[in-house]
Order: sequence, then C-alpha cells, then structure tokens
Amino acid sequence: MNYRALSTALLVVLSTGLSVNAVADDKPFSIAIHGGAGTISKANLTAEQQQAYRAKLQEAVDAGYKILAKGGDSLDAVKASINILEDSPLFNAGLGAVYTFDGAHELDASIMDGKTMNAGAVAGVKHIKNPIDLAITVMEKSPHVMLSGQGAEEFALTQGYKLVPADHFDTDNRYQQLKSAKEKIRKAESNADYQASNGTGHNYKQSALEYSEFDYKFGTVGAVALDKNGNLAAGTSTGGMTAKRFGRIGDSPVIGAGTYAENGVCAVSATGHGEYFIRYHVAGDICAKVKYQNKSIIQAADEVINQRLITAGGTGGVIAIDQRGNIATPFNTEGMYRATRKNNEPAQVMIWSDL
Ligand code: ASP
Repeated sequence: MNYRALSTALLVVLSTGLSVNAVADDKPFSIAIHGGAGTISKANLTAEQQQAYRAKLQEAVDAGYKILAKGGDSLDAVKASINILEDSPLFNAGLGAVYTFDGAHELDASIMDGKTMNAGAVAGVKHIKNPIDLAITVMEKSPHVMLSGQGAEEFALTQGYKLVPADHFDTDNRYQQLKSAKEKIRKAESNADYQASNGTGHNYKQSALEYSEFDYKFGTVGAVALDKNGNLAAGTSTGGMTAKRFGRIGDSPVIGAGTYAENGVCAVSATGHGEYFIRYHVAGDICAKVKYQNKSIIQAADEVINQRLITAGGTGGVIAIDQRGNIATPFNTEGMYRATRKNNEPAQVMIWSDL
C-alpha cells in the first residue's frame, strides 16, 4: 500500500469508527481437522464412500470455522468439529470406534489449551458418547489431567453426564475389521518362526509389531485451531487400534504424543500407530522444532513425520497449525482424511496426497 492509499484507509477507519473491529477482523484465524490416516487407497474406496467422507469433513471443518469467524474460542471450534466426527460412523471415534480384541470399545481423547497450557484427557472409557467433551470437563473441572476407565466415568456422572450403553458404539463395518484382524493375529501366532521366537506362542511384543502389518484404516479424529485472539488449541479423539488388548492406551490421550498446543508456538493433533507416536513424542517434538529451532510448521512437521517416523517404522500423520495460522498436514501413509480452512478462504477437503 502506498502512502496515499494508507492515509485514505486511515481516514476511513477514523471517520467510521471501525478501527477496533477492523483490527480484530484482520487477525488471522484458521482450522485444520483430520479423520485418520492409514492404508486407504483409491482402489478400495468407492466414489460414493469418498463423497461421504468429504461431505462429513466439510461439515466438521465449517462448524469450527464458523465459531472462529464470529470471534469465538479455538477450544470451542476444536470441540465443535470433533463432535461432528465423533457422531459419524465413518470415523474411528465415538460412534464407529473400532473393537478391542475382546469385542468391546475403549475410547481415548485429549484436549490442550495453548493459552493456559491446561490439558485434559480420558482413556479407556466405554460409555461416554463424546469423549472429547469429557476430556474438556477433566481439564476444566478436575485437578487432574488424565482420568481412565471406570474412574473417568464416575467423574463424568458427578458432572451430569449420562452414560450410554456399550453397544451404542457398535457398527458392522468395524466388527468385520475385528474379525479380519483376529484372523491375522491367529495366523501370525501359529507361524513357526513366531512360535520359535519365544517358545510359548505368546510373544505379545511380536504380536504388537504384527498389528502394524494389518490393513489399518486408522480413522482417529482431531482438530487444531487458531482463533482471532491468537489462542491455539488442539484435540484428538479415538477408538484406538482394532483388536487392542489388555487395556492398551495409544497416543491420542497422551499430551505431547497425540495432542499438543502452546500459544506462540503451535498446535498438533496426530493419527497413526500410537506406540510410535508415544515413543517419538510426535506432537511435542514438532512444536519443539518450531519453538527452539525456529523452523516453519511445514518443515518441523515434515521432519518428524516423513523423516524421523519413517526411519523408525511408524505410520501416520498430523495436522499442525502455527501462531500465524499456517497449516501443515503431512502423512506417510497412502492417505489421510483431512480438511483445512483459513480466514476468508474456502475449505479444502483432501484424502490423498494430491487432493
Ligand atoms: N493413534 C491411534 C492409536 O494408536 C490410532 C489412530 O490414529 O487411528 O490409538
């Protein structure tokens, strides 16, 4: 803008009294959501299925965006987007959560508020319709960060939640995935090399590694947002991994692994093979690169997902956002359901690396 244009703009602002709102409206805001990463390929997703995923992602990103556009809080935007994905059977969170080895559903979720560095998480809950809501309540109404299992549900009751029956989360599609996963586990465990590896036929470390070979469509959901006041927030919600055993908890409820937000730095929500995301501290590591090495969000997220995790053998991806509203969505799988929307731009809804 040259000097003349600048002074004209200044005059308009002064004469109309728009200055405060005009400044607020100029503040960047944006949101990104994911619906999981994994072995989704163009070959095994019909045009109708793709359309259904895209429509739900669009609805979810628009719901969060609307809150941000009105000057709302990034935490509220994250919650609104995640609730829509949790209520859809398409995603592995809330309704549509995968089955455990024993045929149950154990849900994990977490939220982090970048403004206060407060966080809340629940793990292994079985009767909470929208686990992200309970994670927020843990953050706001309890002195703790993470509550698990029955205790988390007892806390929910004290906060006025209604428990839903365990079969609320049943879907036939996920049940078929459990059957096929169990068949693969059975084959792996009856394999002669596997038996020889410990002589007992119960080498669970090996079994856990076999899990990564399955046809996983991870499907966890998450959102990150920057609001007009510069506040970052991140949230993640999941049913975990198909056929998980023994109360297994993944990265999604672990702050620093599956979820992280810090004002002035970045906000991240992850999806993928949780054991790797915990060990490599994925969400925290991305933000540390931004904070201490001054890396761009694109570079930081790419280094962790496409270098560090690939070397380790960990599959998955993240959505990440920085203090200026820049967004990175790297993944090292065939696809990742995702959508982004920045101020005054239309939403972008994507599944594969090209669109
Ligand atoms: N990260 C989740 C877990 O390991 C799974 C997923 O992202 O779909 O529990």
